[in-house]
Amino acid sequence: MKAFEAVQHYFHKAAHELGMASPMRKLLITPERELTVQIPLRRDDGTLETLVGYRVQHNSSRGPMKGGLRYHHEVDLDEVRGLASLMTWKTAVVNIPYGGAKGGVTVNSRNLSKDEKERITRKLIDSIHQVIGPDLDIPAPDMGTSHEEMAWIMNQYAKYNGFNPGVVTGKPVEFYGIPGREEATGRGVGLLTLKTLARLGRKAPGTSVAIQGFGNVGSHTAKFLSEADCKIVAIADRTGAWYDPDGIDVRAALKYVCDNEGQLDGFEGGKRIPGEELLELEVDVLIPAALGGVIHEGNVEKVKAPIIIEAANAPITPEADDRLHERGVVVLPDILANAGGVTVSYFEWAQNRQFYKWTLDRVRGELDRTLTHAFDEVWDRAKEKKIGLRTTAFMVGIERVARAAELAGLG
Ligand code: GLU
Repeated sequence: MKAFEAVQHYFHKAAHELGMASPMRKLLITPERELTVQIPLRRDDGTLETLVGYRVQHNSSRGPMKGGLRYHHEVDLDEVRGLASLMTWKTAVVNIPYGGAKGGVTVNSRNLSKDEKERITRKLIDSIHQVIGPDLDIPAPDMGTSHEEMAWIMNQYAKYNGFNPGVVTGKPVEFYGIPGREEATGRGVGLLTLKTLARLGRKAPGTSVAIQGFGNVGSHTAKFLSEADCKIVAIADRTGAWYDPDGIDVRAALKYVCDNEGQLDGFEGGKRIPGEELLELEVDVLIPAALGGVIHEGNVEKVKAPIIIEAANAPITPEADDRLHERGVVVLPDILANAGGVTVSYFEWAQNRQFYKWTLDRVRGELDRTLTHAFDEVWDRAKEKKIGLRTTAFMVGIERVARAAELAGLG
């Protein structure tokens, strides 16, 4: 199943539970606007390359559309569409006043110099500046982008529309960003992992955890959970996977990637195992925090963890999700599990609009409160109605978006 079809599959399951009629379903599924743009890139060596970029604005019923910008070689319109619609349900489930959008450029970001990234980013904004804005659509980091691109976006947007830091979130802290944005997704994943354990009557100390992905999300998740005394027994990134049943020294791993261009390659704090084996380890909690579609029909029967926390967007295919559900595996869905990032983006946007600086304590406190509220709502309803957590999270999100669409009328 392709990315957008997969989100629709979950949407229809939830819409069915809600008894939603098909005209409303069609309205809520259909993206409001999709833009495909050409990005001519002059490489550092003088050669010309033509890239393609996308921005899909899925739904604005609840507010300005919000979502990251992904630079990855697998990006295509269908994937961006799927991720944009996930943002609509994600912002609704945590009840922040946004719709959903997503952007991307099909490019291998690892092969780009900093200057090339800057040129791509500015060209992209040249082509989409009319349709983004602090009240319209607010980009943010995603795979392959970081605070650097966000600063360029703010600067390039200002050339057309004037200074307005609220046009983009995830900016450098000393350049209109907010403390705690970078850690926010991982912190949220960690926090909700602890809440899941507590609801299942398990204690955090000693709980074994395997984390796939050691980028922004995976590394902050590992840090948060190791500080809560969970035992991180396996970590992995694009360069390999490391396993130690007695627990990996996460601080050493964090320091290692800091000193080695963000990569674990060469790390000696565990036994090297094949990357796909990480997903099949006998652990209490499995946290896919990298690419989409990594748990699929081909490997789902080998997945042994009783708890899976979706730190990545769409790491489980719908076919695999059905199997996990049948087997009673507890899956905390992406639209809830990784919503910490967009939640702190909302605080950054609010801070920009107020021109009033928030403290890290305030950011963490409000993040924890927002996520706890959303988690409790989804968990309690799922248990009461005996419906899976993913379907319940979609139901909560869909209800909010449908209500806003109805209140606004079709004008
Ligand atoms: N890219 C992140 C996500 O998938 C964050 C989006 C944002 O902060 O707007 O949720």
